[in-house]
Amino acid sequence: MKQIYMDCGATTPVDPLVVEAMLPYFTEKFGNASSLHSFGREAKQALESSRTAVAEFIGAKPEEIIFTGGGTESDNLAIKGTAYGHRNHGRHIITSAIEHHAVLYTCEHLEKLGFEVTYIPVDKYGMVNPDDVRSAIREDTVLITIMHANNEIGTIEPVNEIGRIAKDRGIYFHTDAVQSAGKIPVNVDDLCVDLLSISAHKIYGPKGVGALYVRGGTDIESLVDGGGHERTLRSGTENIPAIVGFAKACELAHQNMKSDAAHLKNLQDKIINGILKIEGCYLNGHPTKRLPNNIHVCFNDIDGDLLLLELDCCGIAVSTGSACSSGSLEPSHVLLATGLKPEGARGSLRITLGRDNTHEDVEYLLEKLPPIIESLRKTHSLPE
Ligand SMILES: *Cc1c(COP(=O)(O)O)cnc(C)c1O
Repeated sequence: MKQIYMDCGATTPVDPLVVEAMLPYFTEKFGNASSLHSFGREAKQALESSRTAVAEFIGAKPEEIIFTGGGTESDNLAIKGTAYGHRNHGRHIITSAIEHHAVLYTCEHLEKLGFEVTYIPVDKYGMVNPDDVRSAIREDTVLITIMHANNEIGTIEPVNEIGRIAKDRGIYFHTDAVQSAGKIPVNVDDLCVDLLSISAHKIYGPKGVGALYVRGGTDIESLVDGGGHERTLRSGTENIPAIVGFAKACELAHQNMKSDAAHLKNLQDKIINGILKIEGCYLNGHPTKRLPNNIHVCFNDIDGDLLLLELDCCGIAVSTGSACSSGSLEPSHVLLATGLKPEGARGSLRITLGRDNTHEDVEYLLEKLPPIIESLRKTHSLPE
């Protein structure tokens, strides 16, 4: 059977060039980057040239890149690291209602420790209004964290405007750029951020590695103590093969972004136009300010999980929301924040394309989807 992967928001396949770059670091180049002998120096050199490649990808300086175990860890380090480091100065944090759980649950954890968090609401497109952020600022605000692009509905937030507000008030600003990196320009100066999270496995790199950008002069506390690696912010022997693969993925993303984005946008338009012809279907997220690979729709009178399984039977891999929240029966916090009712949020479908998807894939999806919707509507009437 045909196998079509359209769930790149959950993870991407590892690019063969990335695998090739990583392999020697599992075998002959296995040194510990802290060792002084030639094996160690070879690893150290790979570590530092990788740091340069990742820095270039986001317009940063190499010394501003802290390698981590992925996007979740980067978010935790940015938020808890700032909160713990500045708790004598203030205990208020501003975030949005539609953040990834790596940010939301970190904020909720801090609330239990006595911090106060303001969750900025969003409009029906999932957009944060920078004026709302400005009004939420207090004397004791130590951090603003607003994502660059949403992982479920693909909406791109006005990060630069929020960053300028934060900068004016001398408040640290973090953005989770895990979904936007590689799809739209991510530059730490253009975005006006002090802290920024990225993850390798969302950009055709390996899982379990990411980075936190920490602007020079930004003072955060470490969450992992030990040998003092990564400027003491993240102790632990560096995962050199993963870091080398991450760097290669960043280089490829940098080179391919323009052509990838144009290709994805073409496929996205085709899918949106095709899907919206189905009765009782509407698009979630912003009509134009959205990631070029994201299509998120709701179907009336459909159970999203059943739809996902039917598509899977045709070899098409998609998601009902974010990978992390599916499997739970809770409606998505993102859809609820955009004003959808729990019943409406139930029939949701997220398609996140990747650079390997073709027009043929899209035609196959658009051929399979309408009859599935029709038969699901006939056979399963939802409980009231
Ligand atoms: C995937 C994702 C994360 C988590 O990254 P991991 O590397 O899987 O830990 C965080 N934020 C967003 C927006 C994501 O899409």
